Amino acid sequence: MSPVAPSVVVFDLDGTLLDSDAPLLDAFVSLGVPAESVTWGHVVADECNRLGIDLQDYLDAYDLTAAQPYDGAGDLVASLDRWAVVSNKHPRLGHRELQRLGWNPEVAMFSDVFDGPKQLGPALLALGLSADDVVFIGDTPHDRACAQAVGARFAWAGWNPRTQPNTDDLVLTHPSQVLELVTPAEGPVASVD
Ligand SMILES: [Mg+2]
Repeated sequence: MSPVAPSVVVFDLDGTLLDSDAPLLDAFVSLGVPAESVTWGHVVADECNRLGIDLQDYLDAYDLTAAQPYDGAGDLVASLDRWAVVSNKHPRLGHRELQRLGWNPEVAMFSDVFDGPKQLGPALLALGLSADDVVFIGDTPHDRACAQAVGARFAWAGWNPRTQPNTDDLVLTHPSQVLELVTPAEGPVASVD
């Protein structure tokens, strides 16, 4: 990887920017799934299929008003010039969550973009960037694997207590720490004469 710090942050959404574990779980439980049977980091259609739940029933059961950003997440994204979301969330829910929160990432990719679990390659292409230019922030081993697959830096959203980092992984404890990983955007050059 380049020694130069990345300039653009790519985020997972659920469990990373958005404290959505409870509403995601509640939707399954409301359809009769035991909470302990639910696993994280998957394409929602795959998890519904695994659990024997109809996808449309799940989407209808999900409370789109319930999830709130993690403390500091809203301020973080508001302070970033360029940022993106790459998520396994269903697009019907994902785009509406972004709209509700007033978040406008440069690129927002949900499960309809990918043939299977999400990847970072399409986002890099859409952003016109290489892997060295981005850091990916996520909350699951699949997020970590996505970054590794393209050679991008990865940091855990350790403010989500569900995260299980490996020993040598970079773990952040507050969203504001993301700013320490990226180079500030270039502003106007100050005159010195
Ligand atoms: Mg997540």
